[in-house]
Amino acid sequence: MSWKQHKRDQQLLAQEKGYCRKAWGDKLTVCLAYPNAYRIGMANLGYQAVYSLLNDLPFCLCERVFFSPPGEGDAPRGKSPVSLESQKPLKEFDIIAFSIPFENDYPHVLALLAGAGISLQASLRKDFEPLVMAGGIAVTLNPEPLSSFIDLFLIGEAEEALPELAALYREALIQGPDRRELLFDVQRRVPGVYVPQLYSVSYRPDGTLEDVQPVDSSLPRKIRRRWEKDLSAFRTDQVISTPGSEFGDLFLAEVSRGCARGCRFCAAGFVYRPVRFRRKEALEPSFVRGIAEGKRIGLLGTAVSDHPQLADLCRCVLEGGGTFALSSLRMDRVSAEMAGLLRESGVETVALAPEAGTQRLRDVLNKGISEDHIFSALEHLVQQGIRQIRLYFMVGLPTETEADIEGLIRLTRKIRHQALQLSKGKKPFRRITLSVNQFIPKPFTPFQWHPLEEVKDVKKKLRRIKKALHNEGPVQVFHDLPKWNYIQTLLSLGDRRVGQILAEVHQLEGNWSQALKKVPLNPDFYVYRPKGLSEFLPWDFIDHGIDKAVLIREYRKALSEYP
Ligand code: SF4
Repeated sequence: MSWKQHKRDQQLLAQEKGYCRKAWGDKLTVCLAYPNAYRIGMANLGYQAVYSLLNDLPFCLCERVFFSPPGEGDAPRGKSPVSLESQKPLKEFDIIAFSIPFENDYPHVLALLAGAGISLQASLRKDFEPLVMAGGIAVTLNPEPLSSFIDLFLIGEAEEALPELAALYREALIQGPDRRELLFDVQRRVPGVYVPQLYSVSYRPDGTLEDVQPVDSSLPRKIRRRWEKDLSAFRTDQVISTPGSEFGDLFLAEVSRGCARGCRFCAAGFVYRPVRFRRKEALEPSFVRGIAEGKRIGLLGTAVSDHPQLADLCRCVLEGGGTFALSSLRMDRVSAEMAGLLRESGVETVALAPEAGTQRLRDVLNKGISEDHIFSALEHLVQQGIRQIRLYFMVGLPTETEADIEGLIRLTRKIRHQALQLSKGKKPFRRITLSVNQFIPKPFTPFQWHPLEEVKDVKKKLRRIKKALHNEGPVQVFHDLPKWNYIQTLLSLGDRRVGQILAEVHQLEGNWSQALKKVPLNPDFYVYRPKGLSEFLPWDFIDHGIDKAVLIREYRKALSEYP
């Protein structure tokens, strides 16, 4: 560890409020790793929740480490990483626990392990090396591409499962069985745990999967995800506040999980079901804390605007002397009252997600939003003085045609025109920011069988949208790089063999094009191939409580009912 890094870590800790530093003694030691920059990890409420969950266990100690890709503004930590709190090398911890919300961070997992001198392949890891585990939405959807490098995944929500797992692991460490015995025991006893080494994969001659089976009949055939019944029974809010976080001015509090709307592209909407809302009484202590820290309260959740007490929650923050921000707002939930509360809270920009430019395509997505909803929401917001709107659209959607791209352009122009008209005589409307992302098929959604649209075609569509809206005054267009969407799809839909590509990317220090050429595996097989409805998909051994027949029915409906 360099002196510069040590000094930087001290500065980071000095500006944090709420971090925990325990004496090591004989505690179970966990290093919670976020495979991206500090500022991004600290803005992730799931990451913070796990930190607090582990440190709340009297027999356990949890410290943090981050991977900061070069050029991201932080010092790179890939080499000899140490924990932030006590500057210990990762090798000295009992467990390295990764929290992984985004697939494109997988190479950083390998870089952190290698930098720490920990064997990359889980099967080659020695008894004295830390246990490497992972959780988070990306691996909860499909852990397979990372499965060669991880000893144990936790599938689903962590609140109950993680303390169970930690207690069992500590007990096992005291008794001292070998690594495989220990993993076997954990797999057998803790629901939601998935130890890839204890499951074997078979393939058909055409390269598709045949099955994923446990190596022993005493192990569960399917991995059942964990979920919490009553969100109000515990708190999920920010434990560490720091100006170094991407959302440094916010105090984050989770108000809901799951969504009943059933948009056909949305993995979070499906795998976090059933829909659960945290009651106002359970949220009030979080609001009080956040307001006392002088922060704006960030209300987070899968479908925040469907919270039955949303207006009450917002009022509660305002009456407590604070202000709030919402992570998302469905257009059919923007009432005059809601827009007024946003204005009172000083919100300047509101994000809305039509997702598609035509009603036909929104119906394909099952978005449940009409043009009336869009313009009614716009009217309420502009009437209340909101002067900036961010619009989320996707391109490359199933059944999309040129007419839908034209529809996206037309709808944006109409929104712009309407916003300018509505703001006449008031402070002028300032800006529409268009965020146009490529649709990426995700596991456990009705579109999981659908291929990604070819990168070259998406580039053409993006060029067309940017050109058409170039001279539209206050409209700005932003989009992802299509190349990274290809990689994300590969890592979202890939099976265990995709781990070979990840290992090669690591060897080649992040050079994806070289790695894709070198590994004898056709990435288009995962990305551009329409999957068969009867195919065994890489994640089909995970039970999220979603009936595959329902997904098939929804997919067929999307493709056939909206000509
Ligand atoms: S409303 Fe939002 S959270 Fe719910 S399913 Fe649709 S996109 Fe997902």
